[in-house]
Amino acid sequence: MSIQENIREVLSTLPAGVRLVAVSKYHPVEALQEAYDGGQRIFGESKVQEMTTKHEQLPSDIQWHFIGHLQTNKVKYIAPYVALIHGVDSYKLLCEINRQGQRAGRIIPCLLQLHVAQEETKFGFSLDECQQLLDAGEWRTLPYVSIRGLMGMASNTDDMAQVRREFATLGKFFSQVREKYFSDRAEFCELSMGMSDDYPIAIEEGSTLVRVGSRIFGQRVY
Ligand SMILES: *Cc1c(COP(=O)(O)O)cnc(C)c1O
Repeated sequence: MSIQENIREVLSTLPAGVRLVAVSKYHPVEALQEAYDGGQRIFGESKVQEMTTKHEQLPSDIQWHFIGHLQTNKVKYIAPYVALIHGVDSYKLLCEINRQGQRAGRIIPCLLQLHVAQEETKFGFSLDECQQLLDAGEWRTLPYVSIRGLMGMASNTDDMAQVRREFATLGKFFSQVREKYFSDRAEFCELSMGMSDDYPIAIEEGSTLVRVGSRIFGQRVY
């Protein structure tokens, strides 16, 4: 199946209100162009240099979502154009995004990344840490950052009951956080969860943004 057919197939399973981030990391610009020609406008990348190069080569109405681990010293390269940073995992990073947003003259949309999976290696706040950051309230003083919601990944396991439990934990936490801290901020409305192998479950548990790569573009060659 072609890239465009794969996208159509994924889109046909998404309910209204759920958007598709086509995760194009490690794939050549020709693959992204094919997806673009089929109507796809949101692309997810995980490396700053790669995303910036693709941004320069492809049409300017693409919304570039940064889904990887972002180092503070690289925020400046994507600040002028990034549409959404999914993986904010420290207050320090949030401050740097604010600083670079000011320099670039734009408010940068972000998601706070939570760690609910069992793997040690995944980045993100614990639920407690996230709660503490929001309670501290300093984030309200950052005018060039807009916190749009939360992002998370489930464990990489065949145990779909566990995957569902983790997504349900995120979904519940998202609702609580929205009510407690963002009831006056309608822009807090995105829950980014679900990848190629688990996005249907993520949607059932409340995802609004699914990040699908290999199911669209095929296997990545690293
Ligand atoms: C690579 C990646 C994806 C896409 O994974 P697939 O299994 O190829 O769909 C989604 N989210 C993040 C954070 C990723 O790094």
